Amino acid sequence: MERRKFIRNTLAGGTLLGSAAGMTISSPALAQGIRQDIIVQEKGKYDILLKGGHVIDPANNIDSIMDVAVAEGKIARVRKNISAKDSKKIIDVSGLYVSPGFIDSHIHAYYNVKFNGKLNACIIPDNHSFNSGVTTVVDAGSTGAHNFGGLKQLIDKTRVRTLAFINIAAPGMTEAEQDPRTYDVNLAVDTAKRYPDHIVGFKVAHYWTTQPYDDLHTPWANVDAVMEAGRKADLPCMFDWYPRPASGGYPMRSYRELILEKSRPGDIHTHHYAIHIPVIGKDGKVNPDAFKAQERGFIFDTGHGAGSFVWRNAVPAVEQGFISDTISTDLHRGNTNGPVIDMINVMSKYLCMGVPLEGVIRRSTINPARAINHPELGSLSRGSIADIAVFEQLKGNFTYLDTSGGGFRSDKKLQSIMTLFSGNVGFDPYGLSYPAWENIPKDSRYWVNPSGQYF
Ligand SMILES: [Zn+2]
Repeated sequence: MERRKFIRNTLAGGTLLGSAAGMTISSPALAQGIRQDIIVQEKGKYDILLKGGHVIDPANNIDSIMDVAVAEGKIARVRKNISAKDSKKIIDVSGLYVSPGFIDSHIHAYYNVKFNGKLNACIIPDNHSFNSGVTTVVDAGSTGAHNFGGLKQLIDKTRVRTLAFINIAAPGMTEAEQDPRTYDVNLAVDTAKRYPDHIVGFKVAHYWTTQPYDDLHTPWANVDAVMEAGRKADLPCMFDWYPRPASGGYPMRSYRELILEKSRPGDIHTHHYAIHIPVIGKDGKVNPDAFKAQERGFIFDTGHGAGSFVWRNAVPAVEQGFISDTISTDLHRGNTNGPVIDMINVMSKYLCMGVPLEGVIRRSTINPARAINHPELGSLSRGSIADIAVFEQLKGNFTYLDTSGGGFRSDKKLQSIMTLFSGNVGFDPYGLSYPAWENIPKDSRYWVNPSGQYF
């Protein structure tokens, strides 16, 4: 391929797709050079005004060009044509999308745990959140009742809002998950009650996936224990789960039992497009039990991870309308360089499979907020915390990876541009909130050399 053509076909030659509101721009919005420089003024009842963006706020059925005003860390107003004179800073976000900050309902943030004899491969949440539009992350069972206190210490030092499902195995995500004697229901419930602002539910994972069942390792030992905790604490349970054939004199462990019988509405199956999950039948059709479960309010969560998202399940499922209720990454150190990368990359995969942008945002904001019983998050409702994602949609040639070696070719990509957390700019690599240096007022400290030395 000749070089010019190659360049045109890469991200550098991307275009912003026209939106439902009629934006049709032939180059990336940020490259147009028509953006108005930030206006900074002393007076105004709003701290920040995001002007002229395409707001998508599914919780409030908003999907159109609007302004968003922020005051004292909260959403003050969302409507068309808010006067610029009422705000201290006016940031031109025309040509860009504006939505609630994303909620990643499945990540791993605890470092000192051993899993399969190795150090558990967790991420530092602050390094993988704002840069992807994410303002809330939920640790999915890295710790249990014995070591949640350690995770809490990390949470207290972390900027991005970090919540947690705790593992029903008291030592957390370790070999203890294989030993039902470590499933301490009452201790898990007591721990959840002690940290109601941080613990959103209970988790099971990795349990008894290869060896035959025996009197200790019965098919449903972990699910039964976690459900007891969930009922006692009135909190949701998240299942990382494997179907198994009958063995050791015990019957098969079936998907139907999990999603239609054992679980309650509001409980969550994470990794539901994984290679081992019976999503698509031999006839190419979605498992009808999945639709029934979704209808009864059972929640399906992506939990992409390094081994739990395969196109051969996801693509036909989405085509037939069986779509994850919540989009999440399962970020850990083993997938940040691929195939997950980050939250907005996983969101792009859903857009590319044909989920409308509004649906992608819904599954990354208000849906996970409700799933973790934090409906005060995930929307731009007046008075709610001003967690905001600003992003654009690129057009170009892109390939997205699954966890089994499959690529998905598409012409769409979402790209994070700016993130506000509690009303403060937390990510702004393109400098939308930065005035041009030569325009900074001459009485500003910007012009002072604090050493006092001149020559
Ligand atoms: Zn996980």
